[in-house]
Amino acid sequence: MKCAICKHGETRPGKTTVTLERGGTTLVIKGVPARICDNCGESYVDEQITRQLLATADEALRAGVQVDVREFGATAP
Ligand SMILES: [Zn+2]
Repeated sequence: MKCAICKHGETRPGKTTVTLERGGTTLVIKGVPARICDNCGESYVDEQITRQLLATADEALRAGVQVDVREFGATAP
């Protein structure tokens, strides 16, 4: 698809790093599947993946995690 940010690039499958903040928890998740713009580098994460990331962040918040760096999929139940 065409990039919505720069309107010039094409997005291609790749991996990105997502930072989530929920309450007092900061979670950095690496290796998240995404479509990356080949022009400006903007990343687009699918809704289903986003839901999974938010669930992981909620879980970390409940566990009292303050800062954590994880690999996508490694913590999935
Ligand atoms: Zn772009």
